Amino acid sequence: MIPSFDYVQPTSLKAAITHLSDPGAVVHAVGTDLLGCLREHSFPVKKVVSISAIRELSGIAEGADGSLRIGALATIRSIAEHPVVRNRFSGLAQAASEVASPQLRNQGTIGGNLCQKPRCWYYRGDFNCLRKGGGTCFAVDGENQYHAIFGGGGTCFIVHPSDTAPVLIAVKAAARVAGPGGTRDVPLEKFFVLPEVDVQRETVIDPREIVTEIRIPPLAAGTRSSYRKVRARGSWDFALAGVALALRFDGWRVAEGRVVLSGAAPVPWRSAGTEQAIRGRELTSEVIAAAAKAAVAGAEPLEKNGYKIPLFQGVIEEELTRMAAAV
Ligand SMILES: Cc1cc2nc3c(=O)[nH]c(=O)nc-3n(C[C@H](O)[C@H](O)[C@H](O)COP(=O)(O)OP(=O)(O)OC[C@H]3O[C@@H](n4cnc5c(N)ncnc54)[C@H](O)[C@@H]3O)c2cc1C
Ligand code: SF4
Repeated sequence: MIPSFDYVQPTSLKAAITHLSDPGAVVHAVGTDLLGCLREHSFPVKKVVSISAIRELSGIAEGADGSLRIGALATIRSIAEHPVVRNRFSGLAQAASEVASPQLRNQGTIGGNLCQKPRCWYYRGDFNCLRKGGGTCFAVDGENQYHAIFGGGGTCFIVHPSDTAPVLIAVKAAARVAGPGGTRDVPLEKFFVLPEVDVQRETVIDPREIVTEIRIPPLAAGTRSSYRKVRARGSWDFALAGVALALRFDGWRVAEGRVVLSGAAPVPWRSAGTEQAIRGRELTSEVIAAAAKAAVAGAEPLEKNGYKIPLFQGVIEEELTRMAAAV
């Protein structure tokens, strides 16, 4: 049963931030994720602050310099279908089109997609695990087939659920965040929190802050981006393994490459090993095989998710091969 709570729908950012200072207040965009959390009592909520009537949080606009501004309330579908996103940030369009189901893409917002709560079934269930303030991670000796192979830090092994976050990190996007202290830009690479830093937080934003927009800088000439996702069910599902690429080519060689994995770790996981293996190189089959191997070096699978190691290697190999063929 959903607990009782106050509900407000301010029309200005300032009023929303004031409401968020009340104890137990949370942001509500459309609620595709939040309502599930309320039903499952994942965290205590006293007040729901809807941001859906704040007009300045909407829209997608291209800057004169080739940058892109995506309002926090932009729907996942509007991103997947936006002509500029499709033409110039194709990895983001691909990632958005792979989020959940058509109904959820119609409703869910980019702000909510980045700030959604973990999908670990213990967290969503009736288990007072470490992330909820308890003393145990039930996944360690439990059903951990969908959990992390990197970054668990011996504490919490969620995988970050957003498909858009890895590709946004690959293209160096930042979140603009507004709160009682003003506005700040947080590079998405620094937006998510590892359990070893704080096991009860997913992002660096304060509960009184609101993500107002995502800003993507202009892409350097020769840059291509992509997103590839493998899931258990074809229709809709979170990533078992995925890879976002943003590669800047100089002729046949990769001048700069950013490689971010989904379904791998509690945060979108930048693969420094893969990036190093392709930097300055032509993507030959030998280079690609070495880069895919480097991606899984140091992985620490749990009892039931060792299958992710060959899965990641295969996905990365296929995606780099596809990218090389398109140069
Ligand atoms: C069945 C199902 C399948 C899904 N599959 C996928 C998938 O395959 N890939 C994927 O990426 N996602 C998936 N999702 C997640 C989905 O994309 C999110 O539910 C959706 O994007 C959230 O958007 P919303 O506007 O409804 O957010 P809400 O549900 O309103 O909010 C979600 C969370 O974000 C916070 N929040 C929302 N907006 C802001 C903001 N602007 N500033 C600060 N905090 C904010 C809220 O407080 C809340 O904690 C799935 C969800 C469901 C229910
Ligand atoms: S993986 Fe994290 S969220 Fe899941 S049971 Fe362990 S501590 Fe809780």
